[in-house]
Order: sequence, then C-alpha cells, then structure tokens
Amino acid sequence: MAPDAAVVVPAHVHTLIVGAGFAGLGIAARILREHSQADVLIIERGNDVGGTWRDNTYPGCACDVPTSLYSFSFAPSAEWTHTFARQAEIYRYLRQVAIDTGVIDKVVTECELREARWDDSRALWEVSTSRGQLTADVLIIATGALSTPSLPDIPGLEMFGGTAFHSARWNHDHDLRGERVAVVGTGASAVQFVPEIAPLAKHLTVFQRTPAWVIPRLDRELFGFERYLYRRIPWVQKAVRGSVYSLREALGGVLQHATELLPVFEVVAKTHLLRQVRDRELRRKLTPDFTIGCKRILLSNDWFRTLDRRDVSLVDAGLVGVTPDGVVDAAGNEHKVDTIIFATGFMPTEPPVAHALRGTSGRTLAEHWNGSPSAYKGTTVAGFPNLFLMYGPNTNLGHSSIIYMLESQSAYIADALKMMRHSEIASFEIAEEAQHRYNERIQSALETTVWNKGGCSSWYLDSTGRNSVQWPTFTWKFRTQMQRFDEENYISHRKTPSFS
Ligand code: NAP
Repeated sequence: MAPDAAVVVPAHVHTLIVGAGFAGLGIAARILREHSQADVLIIERGNDVGGTWRDNTYPGCACDVPTSLYSFSFAPSAEWTHTFARQAEIYRYLRQVAIDTGVIDKVVTECELREARWDDSRALWEVSTSRGQLTADVLIIATGALSTPSLPDIPGLEMFGGTAFHSARWNHDHDLRGERVAVVGTGASAVQFVPEIAPLAKHLTVFQRTPAWVIPRLDRELFGFERYLYRRIPWVQKAVRGSVYSLREALGGVLQHATELLPVFEVVAKTHLLRQVRDRELRRKLTPDFTIGCKRILLSNDWFRTLDRRDVSLVDAGLVGVTPDGVVDAAGNEHKVDTIIFATGFMPTEPPVAHALRGTSGRTLAEHWNGSPSAYKGTTVAGFPNLFLMYGPNTNLGHSSIIYMLESQSAYIADALKMMRHSEIASFEIAEEAQHRYNERIQSALETTVWNKGGCSSWYLDSTGRNSVQWPTFTWKFRTQMQRFDEENYISHRKTPSFS
C-alpha cells in the first residue's frame, strides 16, 4: 500500500508536516496517538514515504547504527534479518509503520514545499506547494539533514561524455560491468558501495580527500530463535535495545568528555587496516592525521580489503577537474573513466528548505542563519512562530541513533500542540534571549568534544567554523530537556475571535 497520489491539498490544515521520512512519520504518529482527531497533513516531494531510506538505494546500502536502536520505540519489529539492517528492509519497515499508525492516509506525495510565509495578522503559515496553496496553524519541517545531495562544483563536469551520478540517486539503469569507474569521496556511503561495485568494474579509482578512521562492523544475521523470542517475549527485544543504547552512550561519553581514551579506538582501526592492506604506502595514505571520532567513525569489514585489490586504485590528491572522457586529480594527472560516482555527501548546514521559510521579518530562515544555523533545543527559532524543526541544529549524533533524538523532539512538539489546544494559543515564538542563552551553553559544551578539537574539518562545522550540527552530550540529557514544552520561555498569543 502506497500513499494515495490523488489525495488533494486542502485549503487549510492545523498541522502541516513537510517530509515523510523517519522524522515526519514519527511526529505524525505521535500526534495521532495523542489526539486521533488531530488535523494533520504530511506533504512529501517523493512518490512514497521513507525519506533517505527510499532515496539511497546504492549497492550495499545499510544502516551503520544497530537496528535494535535504529527503529521506533513504539513500533518494534521482529523481522529484521541482521544486526545492522539493510536499506530495503528499513524502507519496508517505514512503509509498514505508516500503514499501522494510519499516517499513510495523511500523506500527499509528489508535493514539494515551494514557500512558507508567516502571516502575523492571521497567525498562520501561508504555504505554497507544487500541488497548490494552503494555510497552516503550525508547520513542522521534517525534511532531514541528509536529503539533498551535495555535488562538488568541479570545472568541466558539464562536458563529461560518460555517465555521472550521486550515490544518493543511484542510476540502476547503468551497467558498471567492464567499465572504468571513478568514485569521489570516502565517507559513510562510499565505504558501503565501493566493495560491492569493485568486482564489476574493469578498474575502479577512488578519489580520497581525507582518509577516514574505519573499524570493523560487528554485523551478523539474526537467528530464527532470536526473532521468535522478540515476537513472543517483547521485553527481550527491549532489553537488547536498552543494552545497545547504554553501550552507545558510553561511547558518546568518550567522544564528548574523555577524549584522552580515544587512542584505544585508533589502535583497533590501525590493526584493522594492517590486517587488510599489505602495501605499506597504501596504509600510509589510508591513515588519518586527526583524532578518531572527529569525523564520523566508519564501519566496514571490506573497505580496506577492496582498496588493496589490483583493479582498484586510491588517489589521495582529490579531484580538480573533469575532461570529456576523464577526471583530473589535484596533482594534475588525468584518469580516463567511463563513469563518475559522487559519494560527496549532503548539505546539512545549508538545508535548501531554509530558503523557503519566511518568518516575522519577511527574511528567509537561510538569511536569518547566514550560514550558521541555530535554534532553541534544536527545534524552534526566534522570529519564526509556530514552526518546529525536526533534526534541527545541534541534534546530530556521532555515536547513537538519531531516532532517539527524533522521538524526544516529537514528545516536545506534541506537548506544545496540546498546550495550544487546551490554552487556546494562536501563536508562540521562542524568546530571542532564551535561544541565545541555550546556544551559548551548547557551544561551550562542544568546546571540549572531539568534533571541535579533534583536528579535522567535517560537515559538523558550518561555513563560519561553528559546530552547528552536533549534540554535545549524552542523549538522555536531550530527552530530559524535551519532556515538556516550556511555555514560559516562549512569547505566546491567545486566540481572539478574529483568529477563530
Ligand atoms: P560524507 O560522510 O559527508 O562523505 C563525503 C565524502 O566526499 C568525504 O570523503 C569528503 O571528503 C568527500 N568530498 C566531499 N566533497 C568533495 C570534493 N569536492 N572533492 C573530493 N572529495 C569530496 O558523505 P556520505 O558518505 O554520503 O555520508 C553522509 C552522512 O550520511 C554520514 O556521515 C552519515 O551520517 C550518513 N550515512 C549514514 C549511513 C548509515 O548507515 N546510517 C550510511 C551512509 C551515510 P572530506 O572528508 O575531505 O570532506
């Protein structure tokens, strides 16, 4: 069952959610659980629910967070086949959750947000979409941080005569067999698909700008009796989830508060490299010069082994140009290739949706942020009333499951909606001073973390060098602060007859 493409966009909705991935489905399910009659609609630019797990279909695509934690707490599943779930089953899971929770009936697909403008006189968002106009009392942005692929601006790319695509928009119609293939980037996506495509290609050239720390992925198939236990005695699965959560929090503690212990992990990564790569020079190229954890630690059992193949080369000079039939590395060497695959990541600190939202001043959120996003509790922004951001600034993690953070945000937002209902609130906006104080605390806590002092440049740091992406401490602290909507820190306006 897919969302009904014929669902029409109404003239008005109370709560409009943009995006039907983990974030959008999760918050919609929470709202409907608490208030089954809630007037809620999700608009989704794709043709189905699933977000990044619908779009990323590259070979080998899987989650690098254990599935026992990377799933909704309210929708456990005993059907996972591996400890680290594969893309297709996560996508299937999300579709099933959408059906089971009834959220599927609230989704309008192939409907892209074009602009949302706050109208102060009516206390409403005026929303323009690719399928018409509507107004909404509350707008929830759940477009994900990793939804818009980042393509590097490389001179000559438009003249390339071969095939080029981004890993998040995999071209399944294109056969890589017998081809000379260039892969640009060595991040979390590349380490998953390069081992899958290397045996197909005639020659694979991987362009690395910065080597990553890679440790083994402790993945295995789930036994039938485990799945049986999960089905029959649900608390067993809960206990597993709890223990994975605790272990991950301990790792978070090291990344955030005890960076002096990180060399232990470097020993694990270096041993992994030594065991899989025979060539000393290749090992040198693959050894990072920054503290482990500063960039996301990658998990792979076959990345290094693949780079050690005779038909795979690693160029550690980056890419500076494209010719009609090849690519040019930073050392000036040209490599003839048939296909270029960009595994160059996403745009989390420059989300395109920020250009579409206009607050009380008429300026867009992107103009307001000016290259350095910030929000109150990663969720609300001064000057943008009745707006919630799922997976907003400083809510990303380097050690645990983003689903935990999204569920924490969902609790906060659901409480705010309850408050609006019960207290007849027309609009609320976080006080600028409260947002400022909050961010001072976050930035100060980030100073001692490996992400800020680990000696690397990463997408956690925005164009101004500020860390506007990471949550600085234990995730349970985030949950604690999101338990209740703290109305006292907001400027709110009650409904007047003209609003109703
Ligand atoms: P990424 O981690 O941001 O890696 C992008 C890679 O492209 C990096 O190696 C980067 O080099 C390189 N790059 C970027 N611009 C370049 C340029 N102009 N020239 C040459 N190289 C360039 O992207 P990703 O691998 O797609 O992963 C993004 C995020 O998605 C991950 O951090 C992770 O959070 C998520 N992800 C999660 C999973 C999962 O299982 N849960 C799987 C895949 C991805 P530098 O390092 O030098 O910048």
